[in-house]
Amino acid sequence: MKSTPSMLSEVQARQALIGQALSLNRLGINHGKSGNVSLRWDRSNKVQGEGLLITPSGLAYENLEPQDLVWISLQDDPPRFDGDLKASSEWRMHRDLLRARPECRAVVHTHSLYASALSCMPKVQQEGIPAFHYMVATSHANRIACARYARFGSEDLSQAMLEALQAHARACLLAHHGVIAAGEDLASALALAQEVEALAMMYSQCLALGGPAILSEQAMQAVHQAFVGYRNPAPEIQAGTTGHLT
Ligand SMILES: [Zn+2]
Repeated sequence: MKSTPSMLSEVQARQALIGQALSLNRLGINHGKSGNVSLRWDRSNKVQGEGLLITPSGLAYENLEPQDLVWISLQDDPPRFDGDLKASSEWRMHRDLLRARPECRAVVHTHSLYASALSCMPKVQQEGIPAFHYMVATSHANRIACARYARFGSEDLSQAMLEALQAHARACLLAHHGVIAAGEDLASALALAQEVEALAMMYSQCLALGGPAILSEQAMQAVHQAFVGYRNPAPEIQAGTTGHLT
């Protein structure tokens, strides 16, 4: 990082990320210190290159300062870390999801209560959350799959997540654990994590009432098509002077 503008941009990106992390708490979808948020952040010089910023491990969001976030290179194995604190233990899932979805810039992982509860149910582990409600399509798929169980923080968990995220899917449950969601920006990743939690709450209620009817593939296809207009880039992204932040 050699110029003042890029320094300022990264500080702004760090502040934006902390702002979204704090809103997880306000929205009630974070549980303790379990949630974590990341943002694609490429550094312009060749040594640093493509990467992401992520919340550190074990620090309450209220106490986060911009310098506490950790930068991780995106394409190296093992990656390069830049930060004074330890990155979130789930950095692998964040990195691998950003690698797998080049159109996405942000990832949110939480242990939101209904999504986590459903992730413990054998039926949901097998079938995921099916198309019982049209908003399931906000995940860019016809169902929200559930990744097989693997230990938190492990490479195997990240592999299980990638297996569950078929085609264009941007969200999945993680068995006996929680949920992960990606988006084109911080706000949309957060909105999807929030939507999955709302759907998990509704689906739990439907299961308690005997089980919902499921929308046909054709019906869901029509929903995806109708969503296309809503998925056009927002004006501020198109303007893009600090595209990383939007
Ligand atoms: Zn977790």
